[in-house]
Amino acid sequence: MPSIFTEILSGRAPASFVYRDAMVAAFLDIAPLSEGHCLVVPIEESARLANLSPDTVKHLAAVAQEVGGALQRSDPTITGLNWLMCDGADAGQEVPHVHLHVIPRRQGDGLRFGGRSRKAARAELDAWAERIAERLSERP
Ligand code: AMP
Repeated sequence: MPSIFTEILSGRAPASFVYRDAMVAAFLDIAPLSEGHCLVVPIEESARLANLSPDTVKHLAAVAQEVGGALQRSDPTITGLNWLMCDGADAGQEVPHVHLHVIPRRQGDGLRFGGRSRKAARAELDAWAERIAERLSERP
């Protein structure tokens, strides 16, 4: 059965997109651990990192790097980033389609991983996506 990310990538489910090319897309996490939390996702449907080609993995990382830069340019309170990938159910993976979390960190935010977070309003996610996409387009 296709995962929710395949539904999003094929346009059958909504998402707040920041970036998309032939290999990789980035959109806002629906239940952000912090404001601006993005997911970078290969277009190819693959549950596990080991099944992706090295070129796709490299591009995924390059796009995550760009998204992280754009996040920091879009909000000066973002002073750090966490990258997180849960690869396999035993590693905490809930959506069986590879994704790299890019999680903004702010000084003293006290963020803890592993808890549940609330779903954000679509308008809020769209506003973040617009802001980040604008800064992405400014990259050197
Ligand atoms: P993981 O535990 O690494 O598999 O995390 C899956 C992530 O996907 C969680 O942070 C969810 O909030 C996020 N997620 C689930 N459904 C959606 C959706 N429809 N749009 C955006 N993010 C989603």
